[in-house]
Amino acid sequence: VRRETIRAWRGPARTADGHDVQLLANVQDGAGARAAAEKSQAEGVGLFRTELCFLSADTEPTVDRQREIYAEVLTAYPDRKVVIRTLDAGSDKPLKFANLEHEENPAMGVRGIRLATGNPGLLTHQLDAIAEAARETGNQPWVMAPMVATVDEARDFAAACRERNLVPGIMVEVPAVAVRARFYLEHVGFLSIGTNDLAQYTMAADRMSPRLAAFTDPWQPGVLQLVADTARAGADSGKPVGVCGEAAADPQLACVLIGFGITSLSMAHGAVAGVGAQLASVTLDQCREAAEAVLAAADAQTARKAARVALSSFA
Ligand code: PEP
Ligand code: MG
Repeated sequence: VRRETIRAWRGPARTADGHDVQLLANVQDGAGARAAAEKSQAEGVGLFRTELCFLSADTEPTVDRQREIYAEVLTAYPDRKVVIRTLDAGSDKPLKFANLEHEENPAMGVRGIRLATGNPGLLTHQLDAIAEAARETGNQPWVMAPMVATVDEARDFAAACRERNLVPGIMVEVPAVAVRARFYLEHVGFLSIGTNDLAQYTMAADRMSPRLAAFTDPWQPGVLQLVADTARAGADSGKPVGVCGEAAADPQLACVLIGFGITSLSMAHGAVAGVGAQLASVTLDQCREAAEAVLAAADAQTARKAARVALSSFA
């Protein structure tokens, strides 16, 4: 897609034949959410990484302080979809107040929702703050937990959200969730696939290691297969499944994801127009053809090429 086409593109996003696609922004604070609303065509927030607000905090921020921050993001998108992720501390994102112990293998250690087990107040205070921000702004956010691995975690998280009238979801970052998504979908209202971590855990390759970038490539068919299976489970249960990892920002891969049946894509707001323009240049059938082609590929490079062919052919 040409640069002028991208610059001229206006949302809401849809394929050339009119299939609607929800494009959302990844943000880390109120300023980021306002920038997305003002400078991009993102229709809402698909991933608010709350832990990034508190990287320098020595102590747990009060419920009141948290409420203020969450309300700022909700206010940037009044009456629009905002997905707030609960603290994803641990591994590459240490939070001083989370009492993280030294671990040999932090990416596989106590991170994300696992923190709540030894430290339940962190989660309940955060959910209280989100519920208060929702009341204050009149915008009812969706709330999701990172790093969920078991159905029990999904069930307990969903119950804590529902007690506070919040719509619960979970991230799909652990392969165990992707291969058995329907069991988790019995408890939550939506799924959001984090392809960065899903690739890391599927390929057993550290996402922080530049030397392993070929392994954590989201075009790896093993990763794409899990995304496709998760999307199918969502469609079977009638619940939305989004993608909020870097994969969503790659215009060709975005088309493949839509072909799998993914319902929303969330990305850095600067990537929205490029993805929107690419989607506008293809039909849903082309996306489905590309989706089928990547699953038939043996490796990432073949998958890329096959998608390019499917997306450039004129039906
Ligand atoms: C992901 O893992 O793909 C994701 C979106 O979460 P983060 O990058 O914050 O780990
Ligand atoms: Mg992640």
